Amino acid sequence: MLTLATQSPGEPEIFASVQGEGPSAGMPVAFLRLSRCNLACVWCDTAYTWHFTGDERPHRSGETHDRRANQVALPVAEVAGLIAEHGQKRLVVTGGEPLLQAGALAELLELLPDITVEIETNGTTRAPPRLDIRIDQYNVSPKLSHSGNPPELALISERLHAYAGDPRAWFKFVVAGPEDVAEAAALVRAHAIPPARVFLMPEGTDSATLRSRERWLVPLCLEHGFRMSDRLHIHLFGDTRGT
Ligand code: SF4
Repeated sequence: MLTLATQSPGEPEIFASVQGEGPSAGMPVAFLRLSRCNLACVWCDTAYTWHFTGDERPHRSGETHDRRANQVALPVAEVAGLIAEHGQKRLVVTGGEPLLQAGALAELLELLPDITVEIETNGTTRAPPRLDIRIDQYNVSPKLSHSGNPPELALISERLHAYAGDPRAWFKFVVAGPEDVAEAAALVRAHAIPPARVFLMPEGTDSATLRSRERWLVPLCLEHGFRMSDRLHIHLFGDTRGT
């Protein structure tokens, strides 16, 4: 079984769109959004995957979400069928933190042998070999101090070093202010992450915020040799599910 996020109660969040962020931005893909996360970012834009009723950890929305309305558990074969219906050659597995369900995810990908797979992870954990062998691209998004997570949970040196040495891994740091870029640059240096595989992406869930932050991000990308990532889906569809 896999536990998925929902687009509306009971409807699993599996959809086709263009990738909105990172190295594959603009590519046509199927998305699978899994529920649950091991971190708790105060600005998380998918808090409905983890911030359930009774969870006291802070989130800037001040809201919690009903677990039954926001999760749906489905057999792996059914999930594979729903993904295949979209007819895409590439799959983005996102969350939440998808690697929390690594075993079932490996089973799923064995049912979809011809699909190219990219996985979005917060970089705190690793895929076991049975899953890792099916991953074509890791989008690793380590969470900086402005996320509100304790660094001992969010920034695990051994994991960051391992992803830095994996040519399939791209790094995407979410930044809200120039001080976050300095923190990201220090992590890049400390873990020997190749700058050419680093993206800085503005935190924001509306176009105006993204655009204003991108203006001060450009010179910082030039200074450090990093790339900048926009968030296409926010400009096109707003902060909505299933996009
Ligand atoms: S790691 Fe990702 S899914 Fe988890 S709380 Fe942070 S932003 Fe949300």
